[in-house]
Amino acid sequence: MGFLLSAGPGTYREIPIAFPQRLQVDDDLYLDALAGALTLTRISEGILMQGSLRVSHLQECDRCLDAFVNIFDVTLAELFTSPPDADKSVFFVDGDGAIDLAPLLREEILIETSYRSVCAEDCRGLDAVTGHNLNREGTSQELLSAVPEIPGIDPRLAVLKQLLP
Ligand SMILES: [Zn+2]
Repeated sequence: MGFLLSAGPGTYREIPIAFPQRLQVDDDLYLDALAGALTLTRISEGILMQGSLRVSHLQECDRCLDAFVNIFDVTLAELFTSPPDADKSVFFVDGDGAIDLAPLLREEILIETSYRSVCAEDCRGLDAVTGHNLNREGTSQELLSAVPEIPGIDPRLAVLKQLLP
């Protein structure tokens, strides 16, 4: 970002971001893809970063525990101070004129994934009794009701009967 630091306030540059492959943001955070554009603007305090990135993140569903790819947008608007000024921002342009996007991205992604972490809005989760994934197997009640009633036989036994040759 050295070219921006030496430029006058108001100078800006749009940086396209495209990582179609798996990428490591932090020790415990990997993304499957990242794409978008960031606008970096030179202001008197440093560099203002603004933009929106689309993130693909493989994670576990809170309800059914299946892995799914969560795709969402993160909107970034952050000041990277130069020289570093902790009173104005925790982010800063380092001595080489570079910006480390990872800590900011990590923060935004953890916020996003903490509240949107189901594979689908209508995910049915796990059966409280059997632990089966209800998206695939239905509830035990539904399995019972799918079996035609046979007079004189308890419906639960009817399920057993179907399993017999
Ligand atoms: Zn789910």
